[in-house]
Amino acid sequence: MHNIPIVGLIVLPFIATFYAIFLLFTDGVSALDLTMCLLGTFIIEFGVTFGYHRLVVHRSFVAHPVVKAISLALGSMAFQGPVVNWASVHTAHHAHSDEEGDPHTPTVRGFIYAHFEWLLEMNSDRLGGIKAKYAGRYMKDPMIRFFSNTFLAWSIFSLVLPAFIGYLAGGWPGAWTGFIWGGLVRVFFTSHITWSVNSLCHYAGKKMFRTKDQSRNNFLVGLLALGEGWHNNHHAFPSSAFHGMRWWQVDFTGMVVRILEKLRLVKNVVRIPMSLQAKHLADAQA
Ligand SMILES: [Zn+2]
Ligand SMILES: [Zn+2]
Repeated sequence: MHNIPIVGLIVLPFIATFYAIFLLFTDGVSALDLTMCLLGTFIIEFGVTFGYHRLVVHRSFVAHPVVKAISLALGSMAFQGPVVNWASVHTAHHAHSDEEGDPHTPTVRGFIYAHFEWLLEMNSDRLGGIKAKYAGRYMKDPMIRFFSNTFLAWSIFSLVLPAFIGYLAGGWPGAWTGFIWGGLVRVFFTSHITWSVNSLCHYAGKKMFRTKDQSRNNFLVGLLALGEGWHNNHHAFPSSAFHGMRWWQVDFTGMVVRILEKLRLVKNVVRIPMSLQAKHLADAQA
């Protein structure tokens, strides 16, 4: 991926969000626009947390092909890159957490870098190097390959759909505000929520488990990122299907995994036994 689209993806949703706030004060926004924005943000974020992250990268469970396809389609609408690229970068993050070689870490290069500046440096050479090392395992899966290759189509669809729904409800003005709120503002929200896992969760919060990296559990990111903010738990036990490991650690993605398991749409769910967790607790004897 080259720098120009990345700058566009960071700058354009940012400007659109300011414009959207201006629209709020000029009565140019409908309840439908706000609903599409909020629902879109969390449904598409779910595609990233459930599909891209826990299913593809960490193989925390095996999903029914229809569930897998829906989650990868949703993840591909998040404007965070094709699933193979995302998975390769994330694999590098786990392999080199908070050391040289970690694509995004606030410890080595600072908070803003970890949040999104790293994307500006993700030129084709650097991404190519990461993919050469880690993409092979993902490319073997035909469905992952399909969604990776059709990423752009899903991204465009995710912008056109809210505009189309807006048009049906309110003609061309509805299409425009639907596109702004359900499209660009939604991209702004999903991007910053996911990026906060990279930045805030290696920066602010508590460590429940001993890990070599600086990963933290952050309640706010835990809520917004559908459970992914329990990031210290995740670095301690990357394959766990559940990032929330205590009753108060709200993990919406984990809840959906449980429901789908009951419905037999998800199986081989990885759980970390309490005895193993106890050995790694930060306040336990080394
Ligand atoms: Zn991390
Ligand atoms: Zn991970």
